[in-house]
Amino acid sequence: MRFMKKLQNYINGKFQPPVSGGYIENIDPSRGVPFSLIPDSSVDDVTQATEAAKNAFPMWSGMSLNQRSEILLKLSKGIEDRMDEFVAAESLDNGKPVSLARQVDIPRAVSNLGFFATAVLHFASESHYMEGMGINYTTRKPIGVVGCISPWNLPLYLFTWKIAPALATGNCVVAKPSEITPYTAYLLSEVAAEIGLPAGVLNIIHGLGSKAGDAIVKHPDIKAVSFTGGTATGAYIAKTAGPMFKKLSLELGGKNPNIIFADCDFEDMLSTTVRSSFANQGQICLCGSRIFIERSIYNEFKDAFVEKVSRMKVGIPSDIDTRQGAVVSKDHMEKVLSYIKLAQEEGGKVLAGGHQIKLEAPYDQGFYIAPTIIEGLSYDCRTNQEEIFGPVVTLCPFDSEEEVLKMANATQYGLAATVWTSNLKRAHRVANQIHSGIVWVNSWLVRDLRTPFGGVKSSGIGREGGWEALKFFTEPKNIFIKE
Ligand code: NDP
Repeated sequence: MRFMKKLQNYINGKFQPPVSGGYIENIDPSRGVPFSLIPDSSVDDVTQATEAAKNAFPMWSGMSLNQRSEILLKLSKGIEDRMDEFVAAESLDNGKPVSLARQVDIPRAVSNLGFFATAVLHFASESHYMEGMGINYTTRKPIGVVGCISPWNLPLYLFTWKIAPALATGNCVVAKPSEITPYTAYLLSEVAAEIGLPAGVLNIIHGLGSKAGDAIVKHPDIKAVSFTGGTATGAYIAKTAGPMFKKLSLELGGKNPNIIFADCDFEDMLSTTVRSSFANQGQICLCGSRIFIERSIYNEFKDAFVEKVSRMKVGIPSDIDTRQGAVVSKDHMEKVLSYIKLAQEEGGKVLAGGHQIKLEAPYDQGFYIAPTIIEGLSYDCRTNQEEIFGPVVTLCPFDSEEEVLKMANATQYGLAATVWTSNLKRAHRVANQIHSGIVWVNSWLVRDLRTPFGGVKSSGIGREGGWEALKFFTEPKNIFIKE
């Protein structure tokens, strides 16, 4: 076993143990062994954090925009200055390749803070003049204390995606990262202390969703909750926080279609589809796990895709040429493997992968799954309806636009979709008819932080990103002045 670091909560600018004194083991998925301990926090820790946030709110919200912006830019820079440490921590905690954490996760956390630190300087509210009567103007004030709860797949990336707009608009935050991947959130609290973020403005609580997370959702003084995670958890949060009239932003699961027409740029589509299927071990809510291929190129696509995927290196996350690391936990690995079994029971044929991979010691207890491609399933079977959230995709041929739209739209989810075609009219037509919050045409995961981000149906309510996030974290008030 390597070092056993003990993480602490960050409350009111101080590092402190949980009130209960209990800790939970945090597992390194690449080896399947614990490497740190995290606080098993409860309602008592959340109460302390909320008190601290309430006390800090008048000072933080009363600060000038420029001052707040400068502090958040320092937070962003503080992560950048410790880039190597953050990259290693994210990979160790999550099992993702170091190369991915370096290219995507940590740079994006830096950008999230930088983006909202400066976006808020340009955020203006509306005024509406009424001819001969007077003028309405709208003010936007911070809400107060807000809760931010994030998942394990893109830990610091999604944590900062919430915290940055919440803080930029003058709120004080009680935040909880996933208990499975708490490490970079802990490092963020170290940076917050280093750069002198005023005490109580950002409080980071570690622990279980069902205890610490639940306490955030239920605390009467936490007036808004921004949550990213599974649809079942989102439904529970909506049911709990709804009657308390809390503002809610829920970014939930996906089962995204990747629609490939025969007239696409084949090579571009193929290499992007490998990424959109298996990046981060398929554990991105935006991955295209249902691949629909126009029948005339089905076999050509299948052969080329299987060949490329079979060559992907599954290996130790720290190896520079590893393309697929470990999935996040033993439970999750077993869930994904159970879906592969289900797919076979439903009549699916495994074309690649389909099994766990055992690496050599000391990685032989790690959670590795071969990237898996399955064909021969109906669009409405469980494998094609339920979110697997792992390195598993299905292939399904189609004959017409009408047919593929019917299949693509036939799930409860509606987060993102990808369309591959060189026909501009068809691109617009299909993109407009897909039930989802995001559509990428001839691309995938191109992110502009100004754009609305989120899903429809069971993929959530509300949007993050750009003005949407700044609006969510502020309360508008309209004032009318008679002429
Ligand atoms: P979960 O819903 O299990 O957990 C998300 C977060 O909520 C974690 O911090 C978790 O804590 C916490 N939590 C769990 N139960 C409660 C509760 N009762 N009250 C308050 N908080 C709670 O999701 P996962 O972490 O498993 O993440 C994977 C899911 O996230 C997938 O469904 C994926 O699609 C979705 N996702 C959606 C995205 C989007 O933008 N739409 C982006 C990324 C992921 P703990 O981990 O400690 O249990």
